[in-house]
Amino acid sequence: MSEPKILENVPLAKYTTLGIGGPARYFVEVLSEKDLKGAIAWAREKGVEYIVIAGGSNLLVSDEGYEGLVIRIKFSGIEQQDGAIIVKAGTHLQKLVDYTIEHGLDGLSTMVGVPGSVGGAVYGCAGAYGDNIRDYIKEITYFDGEKVVTITRDDYVTGYRDSIFKRNKNWIILKIKFAGLPHTDKEGLEREAVEVLERRAQKYNSGLKSPGSFFKNIPEDELSLGQLTKVRKLIAEWEHNPDYIKRFGNTSVVRFGKIPAGNLIDMLGGKGDQIGQIKINEFHANTFVNLGGGDAKDFISLARKWRDKVREEFGLILEPEVQLVGFKEDF
Ligand SMILES: Cc1cc2nc3c(=O)[nH]c(=O)nc-3n(C[C@H](O)[C@H](O)[C@H](O)COP(=O)(O)OP(=O)(O)OC[C@H]3O[C@@H](n4cnc5c(N)ncnc54)[C@H](O)[C@@H]3O)c2cc1C
Repeated sequence: MSEPKILENVPLAKYTTLGIGGPARYFVEVLSEKDLKGAIAWAREKGVEYIVIAGGSNLLVSDEGYEGLVIRIKFSGIEQQDGAIIVKAGTHLQKLVDYTIEHGLDGLSTMVGVPGSVGGAVYGCAGAYGDNIRDYIKEITYFDGEKVVTITRDDYVTGYRDSIFKRNKNWIILKIKFAGLPHTDKEGLEREAVEVLERRAQKYNSGLKSPGSFFKNIPEDELSLGQLTKVRKLIAEWEHNPDYIKRFGNTSVVRFGKIPAGNLIDMLGGKGDQIGQIKINEFHANTFVNLGGGDAKDFISLARKWRDKVREEFGLILEPEVQLVGFKEDF
């Protein structure tokens, strides 16, 4: 077992895209599976809890930080094996998307511009503009703390932006095998990727300190008939509002069978609302931004305020998509 280089009291803010978070009591970066196992063995011997992070693009870390060991996954690499693509968990998702476009493979290209690692994307079942990381997964290999296990796609997906890994926090994804991505015209994929990047640039201008969309969108098929009827009526009224038509034309709020959390907040006037240095993006109401010097306490207060307003108005419970680290209370 290799000897991990464990650091102490490392501020986590700089390892997150939001730029917020107190220190990790212990911190280590792992460049191989062997280092990962060494770090876990160290934590167990010490009797401290551990979590993994990677790109930090889906995290809200508390101002108090995390009491245990934070393991930052950095092992990466992409290789072809018998027509399948094997990707190590710490690989940047963008590298994988570029690789598929370069090889004229469809299925991941509209995830262009989603930050973070492939392991993080698999953990959260990330998706964008119709493509989802889960669609062409053949196998996932993870470390359960004792042994290395391989599962298939059917064992992994549990729901929208959900996965078996969210229910088993100590399972660490090591590598993912993708197969069956349809061959297509590379130029078409490149054009599509450029269009997606232009749309994304409106939502997330560069340098924006945020963890991406804070709340999960709501799949319509998870609602009761009563909830669905009520929310559809309210949305239809909203779509006929001259201000909506001016901004969005004839596009529907409901996309890919999901009610976007951002639209619900927007309908209630959330855009631009601010507590301390945390502000709801003027362009996209599900993006909570750190204007600089913001803290997790204000972030949570603003998010709870709009969760509660949405519940009162629509009877819908918004749940965080962003992973919360080091908080003593539930959201
Ligand atoms: C500007 C911006 C835009 C975004 N747009 C989108 C979007 O369009 N669609 C979308 O789905 N998401 C989006 N996100 C969210 C984010 O990019 C994704 O969730 C991303 O996949 C997270 O990967 P990460 O490596 O940064 O994970 P981290 O933020 O480091 O971690 C997130 C969670 O994944 C877990 N995790 C990470 N690696 C592993 C592993 N190897 N094994 C087990 N668990 C692991 C962590 O424990 C943590 O709970 C956006 C974020 C930002 C900042």
